[in-house]
Amino acid sequence: MSNDLLKFVSIDQSMPAKREASDRLKDFDEVYKEFDIPSAQEQSSRCSQCGVPFCHIHCPLGNNIPDWLRLTAEGRLEDAYEMAASTNNMPEICGRICPQDRLCEGSCVIEKDFDAVTIGSVEKYIADTAWENGWIKPIKPLVELDQSVAIIGAGPAGLAAAEELRKVGYQVHIYDRHDRAGGLLVYGIPGFKLEKDVVGRRTGRLEQSGITFHLDFEVGREASLAELREKHDALLVATGVYRARGLKAPGVGLGNIREALDYLIASNKKSFGDTVPEFESGALNAEGKNVVVVGGGDTAMDCVRTAVRQGAKSVKCLYRRDRDNMPGSVREVKNAEEEGVEFVWLSGPEAFLGDENVEAVRAYRMRLGAADATGRQAPEPVPDSTFTMDCDLAVLALGFEPEDLPSLFDAPELRVTRWGTVTVDHGTMMTNLDGVFAAGDIVRGASLVVWAIRDGRDAAECIKKHLQKQLSEAA
Ligand code: FAD
Ligand code: SF4
Ligand code: SF4
Repeated sequence: MSNDLLKFVSIDQSMPAKREASDRLKDFDEVYKEFDIPSAQEQSSRCSQCGVPFCHIHCPLGNNIPDWLRLTAEGRLEDAYEMAASTNNMPEICGRICPQDRLCEGSCVIEKDFDAVTIGSVEKYIADTAWENGWIKPIKPLVELDQSVAIIGAGPAGLAAAEELRKVGYQVHIYDRHDRAGGLLVYGIPGFKLEKDVVGRRTGRLEQSGITFHLDFEVGREASLAELREKHDALLVATGVYRARGLKAPGVGLGNIREALDYLIASNKKSFGDTVPEFESGALNAEGKNVVVVGGGDTAMDCVRTAVRQGAKSVKCLYRRDRDNMPGSVREVKNAEEEGVEFVWLSGPEAFLGDENVEAVRAYRMRLGAADATGRQAPEPVPDSTFTMDCDLAVLALGFEPEDLPSLFDAPELRVTRWGTVTVDHGTMMTNLDGVFAAGDIVRGASLVVWAIRDGRDAAECIKKHLQKQLSEAA
């Protein structure tokens, strides 16, 4: 064992420095600063190189974490990057936005007594260093193959699949209805968690690798699924989930009650310098407003933290359970509180009040009742507990469901589950249509970037097998 390791007894856990909240509020730049070389080496050296590394088991990508921690501790950063990139198409993105406390770091064996190894920050550091040093080059396949694959959706699932297919020489075409590639990485997740140039350098590299992007191309409008099947040898549906879950309450149809993703997309487009009429008109801009965000997941956290940066007068997050039972990451709640967001726990909207536009939200207190089938305590309203808060902009962040893909794609024969997610054979990742595969949120339901990458990689393997079989049958 190298002398550079097992230092968790003598070296404390240390995260990269965090910008002061007052400074963070001035822009949409990332909150966490970068490790410097000595800190990354030192933090990596805390790893005990477990024989059975639980961090690796609980990383959805099965990253070889102890190996790249060892290489980092030894100062072999280029080798560490090669190792990290062999299982992850976007290590610097996962290092930034994976909920590590629930995945790799939450399973680190030294966590109980010594605090976990800061795996995510090291992963980000290794990959950022690789970019800075020009170690990450466009893909040059050894052969060019004639077969082509269409990928619908340029989110992490589609991008990961595209990269894996291009590496072996397939002609890859990505179709996306947005004007920029990246899916929720560009238009959902705000810059203070993931700066946009970090995504842009990944998609740019794929373009330089010979992958063709067809942007502003909505499948179902510009072409039907059948037309794309006609044109390509295989097809991957990686369209994510975008239909916002609604809320039934009196007044919910008033003006200035908006869905989370509309709000976040407008803000992200502004960060790119685009003209966004609904932002310019004030409809999707929180500046000077009393903002109430309803929901307790990561999307809600992104909305409240966007609103404080836009200069809202007040920002409240209304959530029907308590802090211990919210789905959002603990780290994000802490960040939001530091930035001035007020959490109104155990509360739900009873009615939205106003004439034309919302002016106030009447909410009731909730308490946690008996556990439901999933074991979670179901919230129930406390009688006679209503209270009212001022509100000029309400943002609903209650989760997402799939759109009606069979209708949208003009493909009624495409089989979906009763929740609208696309049905696949889990061994082959193929839908009920020959040569049509699916991956990411559109199969799993709303999930995480790291799972989308995993699915994209798995789908690429299945597509390769399918295309090889197609060739051998034609021979
Ligand atoms: P998406 O990223 O949704 O990409 C799908 C793409 O398909 C989009 O670009 C879309 O434009 C395109 N598309 C859809 N329909 C069509 C069509 N008909 N024609 C052409 N193109 C189409 N996960 C984390 O791990 N960490 C986080 O911090 C985190 N924060 C999040 C914050 C928000 C606000 C949201 C909404 C999600 C967050 N997630 C986070 C979840 C994560 O972003 C998703 O799980 C992940 O992006 C799913 O990847 P995907 O490739 O399946 O789909
Ligand atoms: Fe941890 Fe995510 Fe990196 Fe896996 S991909 S090691 S879960 S930060
Ligand atoms: Fe190192 Fe923690 Fe993984 Fe063990 S579980 S190999 S200590 S990072």
